[in-house]
Amino acid sequence: MSSSVEAARTALLRAGSVAVLTGAGVSAESGIPTFRSNGGYWRTHRFEDLATPQGFARDPKFVWEWYEERRRSIASATPNAGHAALVELERRVRRFTLNTQNMDGLHDLAGSKNIVKLHGDIWVLRCTRCRRERVDRTVLRELPPYCECGGMLRPGVVWFGEMLPEGAMERASDAVHNADVVIVAGTSARVYPAAGLIPPAMERGTAAIEINPEATDFSSDVTFSLRGPSAEILPMLIMDGGNYGS
Ligand code: NAD
Repeated sequence: MSSSVEAARTALLRAGSVAVLTGAGVSAESGIPTFRSNGGYWRTHRFEDLATPQGFARDPKFVWEWYEERRRSIASATPNAGHAALVELERRVRRFTLNTQNMDGLHDLAGSKNIVKLHGDIWVLRCTRCRRERVDRTVLRELPPYCECGGMLRPGVVWFGEMLPEGAMERASDAVHNADVVIVAGTSARVYPAAGLIPPAMERGTAAIEINPEATDFSSDVTFSLRGPSAEILPMLIMDGGNYGS
């Protein structure tokens, strides 16, 4: 184990309160591509065109085809060792909040409990008319799908230019504010407001552990910048017990 991983592990062992921010990289080892791995494009379309209210209003069937393709590929993915390590950390630490930008549901599937889904959930369908939501993991045969009320359903995710789910940023900021250690894993930290959670923690001098195979804009400012896949590094940070918060 490298000395920086060991030092980060020691900081984590002392923590009574931990806040985590995860991004698409945490699901990379489960076979789900990150946003930037394909240059921000899907086939010849920009993600911004597929993931905006304007794009949906223009061509809901096309947008739904994209989401349905993603739903089907995510449905065959399983949580990896990084997801599992975060479940174990939540079990051991006194206060724990998992703020995620991921909408793939793998943190839930792994068993994490206190999750703040900053960008929604791809398994949720929301009615554009009555606003009712339901979780639906089945293959959607008719696209776009419709609600019982007759309104068109949309994916329960946050699109570019939309507000985050009510209260999500407040819960995430509180958790980061009260944390002894902040872990930032698998995110390019380029998408705001989620990325804005990190600087206040560093300004307050909270120990911050970044896990990413590549450097990000925050790498030189965090306390521990651990380069590598989260499915390898997170288990190293959390392995063999210890008395957390001591
Ligand atoms: P991003 O694609 O911008 O960044 C991914 C980051 O993960 C990069 O910094 C990359 O170096 C890192 N990474 C790649 N492989 C990794 C690994 N094995 N271990 C750890 N890190 C690894 O993703 P983002 O920062 O989450 O922001 C992009 C937006 O796209 C978010 O809004 C997110 O909701 C959305 N998104 C979500 C999913 C998902 O739910 N799985 C997938 C793609 C995009």
